[in-house]
Amino acid sequence: MPLNFIDNQAVRSASSQTLPVIDPADGQPYDTIERSSAADVDMAVQAARRCLDTTWSRLSAAERGRLLMKLSAKVAEHADELATIEQRDCGKPTQQARADALALVRYFEFYAGAADKLHGDTIPYLDGYSVLTWREPHGVTGHVIPWNYPMQIFGRSVGGALAAGNTCVVKPSEDACLSLIRVAGLAAEVGFPAGALNIVTGYGHEVGDALARHPGVDHISFTGSPRVGTLIQQAAAERHCPVTLELGGKGPQIVFEDADIDAALPFLVSAIVQNSGQTCSAGSRLLVQRGLYEPLLARLGEVFRALRAGPPALDPDLGPLIRQTQLERVRGFLDQARADGIATVAAGHVMDEVAAGGYYAAPVLLRDVPPGHRLAQEEVFGPVLAAMPFDDEDHAVALANGTAFGLVAGVWTRDGARQFRMARRVKAGQVFVNNYGAGGGVELPFGGVKSSGYGREKGFEALLGFTTLKTVAFRHG
Ligand code: NAD
Repeated sequence: MPLNFIDNQAVRSASSQTLPVIDPADGQPYDTIERSSAADVDMAVQAARRCLDTTWSRLSAAERGRLLMKLSAKVAEHADELATIEQRDCGKPTQQARADALALVRYFEFYAGAADKLHGDTIPYLDGYSVLTWREPHGVTGHVIPWNYPMQIFGRSVGGALAAGNTCVVKPSEDACLSLIRVAGLAAEVGFPAGALNIVTGYGHEVGDALARHPGVDHISFTGSPRVGTLIQQAAAERHCPVTLELGGKGPQIVFEDADIDAALPFLVSAIVQNSGQTCSAGSRLLVQRGLYEPLLARLGEVFRALRAGPPALDPDLGPLIRQTQLERVRGFLDQARADGIATVAAGHVMDEVAAGGYYAAPVLLRDVPPGHRLAQEEVFGPVLAAMPFDDEDHAVALANGTAFGLVAGVWTRDGARQFRMARRVKAGQVFVNNYGAGGGVELPFGGVKSSGYGREKGFEALLGFTTLKTVAFRHG
């Protein structure tokens, strides 16, 4: 029965109400979390503020870095335990759950090392003046985290915020809290002062909304749906609180006729299959130059037919989706495809070993999806790849940029000049040339344009976002 974690204590919510924790592999409840409210958010924000004023702001950047390095080592020690927690909570295949725990280790390590490399500048100015800039933390930062990669998104968000000198209040998804509560406990064990890192669980419209509205929160970092991104911005706008938003995408994988298909094939598949397609940067659109379209679909079809969705502990290609409503969402998209005459090239299968009541969806490859169709425009957040042909570079760019999103894109071609042209012309926060995802890349700034959001997480760039710049001008004659 994991509780809220506030001021380095496990505490019950003010209401003492709970929510069930459901195992996506069988749909059965196996634990509870606190159903918190605005009162609990207030308690956490006050704890974070006290810590900031009395302890955290007095630590040097190097000391903050050392604490984060200790936490990284502690998470590494507990990586198997955390992976097991996350596996059951989110239905992740074993390899994915382990990769997520190790990514968390790496996020804390990266930001530990970066903490004391963050500094301001001096600016040449008028005679008699010296001007410098300071990078100061916002203060108390709020973090609203989704369910698809809880540990990874927590690591990139909280790691950067703490390194930059903020104290944090985290609102995990009601569907995926358990690993983060455990990590907050580990932070206390390695010496993080009370109030530096607080976790409050519950529903988005209750806890998330209260966090976004709380006058004591100085910055909000949100990853999730565009709908909630809008609500967060509206709440934050009431008090002019800065926001970083990561709202998903409809990632195009663009394959030219001169591409190295053998190299591309595993990426094209894993970009949509990883985490059962529940990935904001999923490569959910496949844009193929016309001369390669049929042969590539034939090869991909073979791979799709062999893919298996199954019990997470068997480490299948895909685990279950997170919850019943997500399964219904994916089925709804596929029903619509059928109703609109969109043809299926191939589908994988759900293993016989799955428990009744699990939220399993087999991966599906669709062809000739009209560019304006919902399946080419909206985030399914499931293992559905929408293929469509293109004629030339201009056509590819028009299709790639022809959605409301702009998070990531992949381009496959051997032509070096075209690689650069495409990388420039595609509107996205990250472009991958002859790969997709660049292995996760903790070091690589990540975020979107258009409806994919704004601001950057990951890499050194994220640290800047967790600070505000103060310009100090000295007149000395
Ligand atoms: P969501 O946006 O509803 O939830 C994300 C987080 O926001 C959760 O912690 C949730 O509790 C919180 N939240 C919900 N309502 C809130 C509110 N009014 N104020 C403040 N916080 C609130 O996402 P979801 O319902 O879990 O998933 C729906 C769709 O969102 C998915 O199908 C997918 O398309 C998208 N999504 C994207 C990402 C991403 O990485 N970009 C992650 C998860 C979901």
